[in-house]
Amino acid sequence: MATAPAPQPVNEPVRGYAPGSPERAALAEHLAALAKERVEARMRIGARDVAGDTTFPVVAPHRHDHVLADVHAAGPAHVEQAVAAAGNAARGWAALDQAERSAVFLRAADLLAGPWRDAVNAATILGQSKSWHQAEIDAACELIDFWRFNCHWADRIAEEQPDSVPGAWNRTDYRPLEGFVLALSPFNFTSIAGNLPTAPALLGNTVVWKPSEKQALSAQVLMDLLRAAGLPDGVVNLVHGDGGLVSEVAMAQPGFAGLHFTGSSTVFRDLWRRAGANLDRLRTFPRIVGETGGKDFVVAHPSAAADALVVALGRGAFEYQGQKCSAASRAYVPRSLWPAVRDGLADLARSLPMGDPADPATFLGAVISEASYRRLTGAVRDAVAGGAELLAGEGADDAVGWFVPPTVLVTPDPRSDTMVRELFGPVLSVFVYDDADWEATLDLVDTTSPYGLTGAVFATDRAAIAQASAALRQAAGNFYVNDKPTGAVVGQQPFGGGRASGTNDKAGSPWNLLRWLSPRTVKETFVPPTDWRYPHLGPAAGAAGAGHDAADASGLAEGGSRP
Ligand code: NAD
Repeated sequence: MATAPAPQPVNEPVRGYAPGSPERAALAEHLAALAKERVEARMRIGARDVAGDTTFPVVAPHRHDHVLADVHAAGPAHVEQAVAAAGNAARGWAALDQAERSAVFLRAADLLAGPWRDAVNAATILGQSKSWHQAEIDAACELIDFWRFNCHWADRIAEEQPDSVPGAWNRTDYRPLEGFVLALSPFNFTSIAGNLPTAPALLGNTVVWKPSEKQALSAQVLMDLLRAAGLPDGVVNLVHGDGGLVSEVAMAQPGFAGLHFTGSSTVFRDLWRRAGANLDRLRTFPRIVGETGGKDFVVAHPSAAADALVVALGRGAFEYQGQKCSAASRAYVPRSLWPAVRDGLADLARSLPMGDPADPATFLGAVISEASYRRLTGAVRDAVAGGAELLAGEGADDAVGWFVPPTVLVTPDPRSDTMVRELFGPVLSVFVYDDADWEATLDLVDTTSPYGLTGAVFATDRAAIAQASAALRQAAGNFYVNDKPTGAVVGQQPFGGGRASGTNDKAGSPWNLLRWLSPRTVKETFVPPTDWRYPHLGPAAGAAGAGHDAADASGLAEGGSRP
């Protein structure tokens, strides 16, 4: 248990970077400097910066001839070394008081809030093609919140203790898992990349962390930040490269005790199977936590306000190029509202500034990779060939960067490909339903996609809101009423979904932290019994009165029928 609780956290204020502000000048300076560098990103294993046998480039998605970093890729031996380093650090790290471990992450949060903020934001803007605002709410604010709130929740968990009775003291010892945690993080949120290895580490676990190849630049800056915060060597071991290779080697080690994954559902299913196949060689049953894909919906009732709906769809579908697991990607609009929504949505989609995100006037950057560009443009082309109307979204262009404009498809078929499949880009598919079909539409929303991550209802009619909330109870782990389905804030909307969207362990909450603990129950009896007899057996021959002392009373209190 922490001897002194961490400070009560509050959400990190979001910087506005308004024209003329000093914060705007400082971030612009960092961006200009980083754009001139070509970073060499080595792995960090134990106390060593380690080169791989090969390297791969990180390019700016909005200028794909601009190489930002050369990243050293792990081979099997590096993964084994990382697992060994995690093992070597485990005992000392677990033995520390929670307050000592929390202090490292509270310092990391303050470093990120202050002197490291621009460096982490700049790497996220250039490496992942995020606008200034999107980088700020992710790489700075959300990660600061994860670190501060997790420390607070670690203390609250430790406070949860069992009842004790006179003569005995019962305690829960919140042990870390017996072994290491493998953290595999996605490209789209620097904050998730930072949280996946550090949430288990905060509670005393040691970690092998493999970030996405496409987020390797900001991952490197985070690793440097954690070291500056005082994280001991070997607690988080950073390896880069191929997720298949890293997971194959790491998950076959006997000490593999947990997987903290965020990424696509397909990869997560493979990882779960791999964990199952390795069970016979593992020391413990591993904890498997995965937050995965989504096909997030917005359903509007005829009583909805059209202007609010348009803004929610525009922001929800197109911010960060739709590359949020929570992004609105299918919308259901009643015919009576459609004329107003249609015009508003088309205007909004066409007016969002797209370009180089280093320019603070940019709203959308490029999508993350050529593969993503091809997937998105192919899906739109096929949808149009299949009868969908392209309301907005002409002009995809990959000459300089992988630019896919905000795209709105109006589909006559509510179960067509783009209404069902996670596309992970700025593509919103709309189905217009007859007002009288409101109830049937709720059923359609619920049954169209295998996912269950986020969703929103827009209505002013209270009964309709209640009806949607009930009908869509399992359709979304994060459900919004008259709000866009993105933008969950740590401490306010714990995040995660069920169905094909993952294990719903709610990142940014105590529930996630509980998965990284293996509680030990300790009962201490102060005066143990010295006579084996219970009162109903009668007095011992030649020892009248024996068996009725305090020690026997405590023996009776133990509930002898339990194991
Ligand atoms: P991804 O699944 O391609 O990659 C995630 C991580 O897994 C990366 O580190 C990657 O290198 C690794 N990986 C890839 N293939 C692997 C394999 N065969 N075996 C083992 N590891 C492998 O995902 P991404 O493209 O980086 O991120 C986008 C996906 O993540 C989307 O599906 C999105 O919905 C999801 N996501 C979900 C949440 C959530 O909270 N539910 C949050 C962010 C992103």
